[in-house]
Amino acid sequence: MSKPVILTGLRANNDLHIGNYLGALLPLVDMAKNKSGDYQINLFIPDLHSFTTPIEHGSLQATIMQNLKIFAAAGLPLDNPDVFLYRQSYIPAHSELAWILDCFAGMGEMERMTQFKDKSAAIGNDRVSVGLFNYPALMAADILLYDAAYVPVGDDQTQHLEFTRDIAERMNKQFGELFIIPKPVKEQHEFFGKDQGLRIRDLQDPTKKMSKSDASAKGIIFLTDKPDEARQKIMSAETDSLGEVQYDYEKRPGVSNLLDMLKLLGGDGQPFIGQNQYGPLKTAVADRVAEFLTDFQTKLAQVDEQAIDQKLESSETKMNEAANATLLKVQKAVGLR
Ligand code: ATP
Ligand code: MG
Repeated sequence: MSKPVILTGLRANNDLHIGNYLGALLPLVDMAKNKSGDYQINLFIPDLHSFTTPIEHGSLQATIMQNLKIFAAAGLPLDNPDVFLYRQSYIPAHSELAWILDCFAGMGEMERMTQFKDKSAAIGNDRVSVGLFNYPALMAADILLYDAAYVPVGDDQTQHLEFTRDIAERMNKQFGELFIIPKPVKEQHEFFGKDQGLRIRDLQDPTKKMSKSDASAKGIIFLTDKPDEARQKIMSAETDSLGEVQYDYEKRPGVSNLLDMLKLLGGDGQPFIGQNQYGPLKTAVADRVAEFLTDFQTKLAQVDEQAIDQKLESSETKMNEAANATLLKVQKAVGLR
């Protein structure tokens, strides 16, 4: 029997930030390092998702390579045969299955997606793309083509994962066992050792999540930020006027976000709890983040691009075979073959 698949993708519309790293990349790399004998690990660049929101198209290739290097710097073992690294558009089955899924998805369920509502509100309804509207169908194809069981994603993707399960169940009901259904979100969290999806907040507006497509970079710690620049961003992070360090996401989202970041980067927030000033906590987080970035960027500078190219080539050949096999099953079921 083939190994259960753990899969994730990170959009290459901009450099990745610390939320992407902690929410999606690190859990996957940990699995690749510790469990690859028992699982297959798929990490891909969803390049077709890259321009659901406007980007600089001339830089897309460079951003894709940069993100691939970030995966390697984060510790993805490129020489491990259970690890697959690929670009979505090099496997045409993604687009073909997405179209078929589109025809089984309801307008109503797509309109309920909060991410679409949030992003379209920010972009404005005239300029928002149809691609952004139906990207959950492409994301469902990304997952279902490989029978993926586990999909480490941040909290913002939970609804899309539920949609993937819904549409797969719907099609299985109509056509027989076409798809393996990814595990329910709760089971996913348990598998990755968490009690909920992670959501690192924007430093300037801690009521919303950190997002790489945001217009202002002030609230975002990019993995490529100069350590001193990142330090500044932490020191000027928005907190609250309550004047006491406590972990409370509702009332103190800014401070809680800083405590989360500190903990996830291996620091300890406990000594700061109860203090009536935010400065010492901020300094500790700023130091920890700067240290993390210095170390990460040293690794990034050492990544071998040729090793990445080789891994892409071998993975994309294998993934085309796997994806085409699933696609053919679906094509037969819906009467295309
Ligand atoms: P964009 O604004 O372009 O959508 P993004 O920062 O939301 O950028 P995505 O490419 O959409 O990044 O998501 C990549 C992965 O990172 C997903 O698994 C997503 O859940 C996770 N992720 C994104 N933002 C955060 C965050 N702030 N905290 C934790 N995980 C996050
Ligand atoms: Mg996003």
